[in-house]
Amino acid sequence: MLGSSAVPAEIGTQSAVPTPLPTKRADPLLVVEDLTITFPSADGAAAVVRGVSFEIAAGEFVGLVGESGSGKTITALALLRLVPAPGRIESGRIRLAGLDLMALSEAEMCRIRGARIGMIFQEPMTALNPVFTIGFQICEAIRAHSNLTRRQARREAERLLEMVAMPESRRRLKDYPHQLSGGQRQRVMIAIALASKPDLLLADEPTTALDVTVQAQILELLERLRQDLGLAVLLITHDLAVVAETCDRVVVMYAGDIVEEAGVHALFGAPAHPYTRGLLSALPRIAERHVEMGEAAEAAESDKSGRGRLTAIPGQVPDVSNRPTGCSFHPRCGDVMARCRHQEPGDFAAGDGRRVRCFLYDRI
Ligand code: SF4
Repeated sequence: MLGSSAVPAEIGTQSAVPTPLPTKRADPLLVVEDLTITFPSADGAAAVVRGVSFEIAAGEFVGLVGESGSGKTITALALLRLVPAPGRIESGRIRLAGLDLMALSEAEMCRIRGARIGMIFQEPMTALNPVFTIGFQICEAIRAHSNLTRRQARREAERLLEMVAMPESRRRLKDYPHQLSGGQRQRVMIAIALASKPDLLLADEPTTALDVTVQAQILELLERLRQDLGLAVLLITHDLAVVAETCDRVVVMYAGDIVEEAGVHALFGAPAHPYTRGLLSALPRIAERHVEMGEAAEAAESDKSGRGRLTAIPGQVPDVSNRPTGCSFHPRCGDVMARCRHQEPGDFAAGDGRRVRCFLYDRI
C-alpha cells in the first residue's frame, strides 16, 4: 500500500504563490511538444500517449521511466516515426536540432534514423543478424552513412569496437553474434548506433537482460560516450536504480502521461508525485546502490516516509481504452482526494525546476 505520506516537507513548505512551470532550455537538441499517440479501440481511438512534452539538451542524459504500459517505449518509437500500425501519431511536434521531424517525407526520415538518432534495445540478438559477422554488420552501418571504402570502413569498425571497450576488438570483427556474451553483443549494438555519429541515442532497457556487473559496465560506457562525444541519451527503463546511476534528469510516465519531471537529485531526494514515491518505495536497492549520489542518497536514506520499507504500488496501470475518470492514478493513490476522482490534474510547478501532474501541488 502506498503510504499516505503528505507532500515531502521541503516541497510542502513552499510559498503558496504559484511558481511558473520550468523554463525551456535555451537551445535544446530535441523538443517534443504535445505528442499524442492513439491506437484503434472499440470506442474509436485510445490514447496511449497523451499530450507529452519534454526536451533534451545536447550531451544530456535523460531517463524516461514508468511501468510496463506507461507509454515510454512507444514515445521513443514516435521520435523515429516508427509507431507500429495500427497506432498513429495523432498530433504533436518533434524537432531535432530545429528540424521538424513530423514534416519530413518518409525518405528524409529514413536518413534521420541512424544518422542523427541511434537506437539500442534490450536484447541485441533481435537486432543483430546471426548469419553475418559483427565486422560485416558494423561496416554496413558505417557505409550506409558515409562514402568510406570497405577497407576504410573496416578500420573504422575496429576503432568503434575499441571505443566501446570491446576486448580484442580486431579479432572480434570476425566473430558471429552467437560467439559473444550478452554484454559484448550490447557493445556491438552501441558501436553500430555510433557508426553514423548520431546526436541522440535512444536506449530502450539496454541493460535489463544483463547481469548486474555487466549492466554497470554498459552504463559506464554510455556515460563515457556522453562525455567524450557529447552524445545525448534518452534512457528508457522501468528501473529507477539505473536512472539514479546515470541520468541528469528524469521524466516519469504513467498511463501515457508525464506525471513528474525533475533533476535526478531532486527526484530521488524528494519524489513528489505519489506514483514516483510508489516506484521508489518498491525499489529497496536505491539507497544501497547509490550511496555515492551525495545529497540524493542522503535524502533517500533519511526519508522515513515509507521508502525504508519495501512496498508495492497496489493495482495495475489502467487499460488506456478504459481509463479511470479524473486522475488516471486515483484508484492506486494513497493520497487521493475527492476532486481527483472526477477532475484531471494539470501540470504544477513544485520548485527545483520540477513539474508534477498532481493536485497536491495545486497552490491556487
Ligand atoms: Fe493522487 Fe490526486 Fe495526485 Fe492523482 S491528483 S496522484 S489521485 S493526489
